[in-house]
Amino acid sequence: MSDLGATLRQQFPLFANNIDGNPIIYLDNAATTQKPKMVLDAMQKFYERSNANIKRGMHPLAEAATEHYEAARKCVQKFLNAKKTHEVIFTKNCTEAINLVARSWGEKNLRKGDVVLLSLLEHHSNIVPWLQLKEKIGIEVEWIGVNTDGTLNMEDAKNALERGKVELLAVSAVSNVLGTVTPFAELTKLAHEHGALVLIDAAQLAAHAPIDVQEIDCDFLAFSGHKVYGPTGIGVLYGKEALLEAMPPFLGGGMMIQEVTTDRFSPASLPEKFEAGTPPIAEAIGLHAAIDFIDTIGWEKIQTHESDLMRSALTMLQSIDGVIILGPKDSSLIMGCIAITTPGIHPHDLTEYCGRKGLCLRAGHHCAQPLHAHLKIPATTRVSFALYNTGQEIEAAQKILKEAILFFNV
Ligand code: PMP
Repeated sequence: MSDLGATLRQQFPLFANNIDGNPIIYLDNAATTQKPKMVLDAMQKFYERSNANIKRGMHPLAEAATEHYEAARKCVQKFLNAKKTHEVIFTKNCTEAINLVARSWGEKNLRKGDVVLLSLLEHHSNIVPWLQLKEKIGIEVEWIGVNTDGTLNMEDAKNALERGKVELLAVSAVSNVLGTVTPFAELTKLAHEHGALVLIDAAQLAAHAPIDVQEIDCDFLAFSGHKVYGPTGIGVLYGKEALLEAMPPFLGGGMMIQEVTTDRFSPASLPEKFEAGTPPIAEAIGLHAAIDFIDTIGWEKIQTHESDLMRSALTMLQSIDGVIILGPKDSSLIMGCIAITTPGIHPHDLTEYCGRKGLCLRAGHHCAQPLHAHLKIPATTRVSFALYNTGQEIEAAQKILKEAILFFNV
C-alpha cells in the first residue's frame, strides 16, 4: 500500500490528539471527514483579514469577501466540470440541495400520479423530500431494488422506466451504507431515453472520484462540503442552466430578489435566486481550500491509495470470525465504506467498545431505514475510509475488532 495516508495525515491537526491515550483511528469518514490545515487556515484568514457580508457593501472588505465567495463557486464549477459558473448553487448541505430540487422543480413540474424513481440504497435525504411531495401532491414513489450482492437491480430500473410515468430518477452515486457504486451514468442515459430527468446524490462520491457533470449528463447533482474535507454548513447543488432558470426560488428573503414592492417581488437571476439570506461565506472559502487540497494530491494518487485501502479492509474484515460483510465483497464495486454485522453483538455495543480504544466507527441505520428493512437488519456497523487512512490503521482496527468480539462473546 502507498504511504500517501501516512504522509497526508500530518496535515490534519485532529490526528495530533488521542482518545484516552490511544491514537485516533478515524474510520467514520462517510459521516464527515477531518479537515486539513489548509482549510482551517483559509477560513481563519478570511475572518481575520477580509470578513464582511458579500454583495451588499461597496467597501473594500465587502468587495474582497464577494470575490472570495465567487472564486469558490468557480472552483466548484471546475471540480464538477459544469458548463456555467451559475449552474453551481451554494446550499447548507446535500440535504438542502435535494430539498431545493423537490420544492422548486418538483412542486412546479410534478402532478398527481407522476413517478419519482428512487433506489433502496438511498439516504433519507433523498427519500423524505419525495415522500413529502407524495403527501402534498400525490406523486408516486417507486423503488429500484437491491440484489443479494448489494448491487442495484437494473431490471427494476428498466421496468420502472419503461412503464413511462417516471419524471425524475433520483439516485445515489455511492451507497452510504454498503459502499456500492451505482451505474449512475448508465442510469442517466436510460432515464433520458425514457424522458425522465436525473438527480444524482453524490454525497458519498465527491471525496473518492472525479465528477464530470457534462459527461454524466445528469440534470441535478448534490453533495456536501464536509464530506470532501471542507467545513460543515456548505453544500452544492449543480443544475443545468435551463432547468434552474425555469425553477421558482426555494427560499425567500434578502439577496434572492431583483425588486420587492408591498405586494410582489421579482426574483434575482442565477445563482442568487436560490441563495436567500447571508450565505455560508467562510464555508465556501473553506470548500474552495478543500478542493485545492484534493487538486494538489491529484485523483490518480487518491484513487490508487483508496482502492488499496478498500481491498485491504475487505480482506481484514473477512478474516475475522464473527464478522459478516453486507455489501459487495469485490473492492472494485465499492467506494469509501463497508457495512458489517456481528451476530450476537449489537452495533452500538461494538462501536462503543471500539471508540474507547480510539477506533471511530458508526452504528445504526445510517439514515437508510428502507435499505435496512430490505436487509431485515435494524442496524449495522459501518467502517468508512478517507485518503489519510493507512494500512497500519486497518491492522490496528482488526486487532480492536477481534478483542471486542472476544469481550462480548465471553
Ligand atoms: N446522501 C448521502 C448518500 C449521504 O451519505 C448523506 C450524509 N450521510 C447525505 C445525503 C446527507 O448529507 P448532509 O447530512 O451533509 O446533508
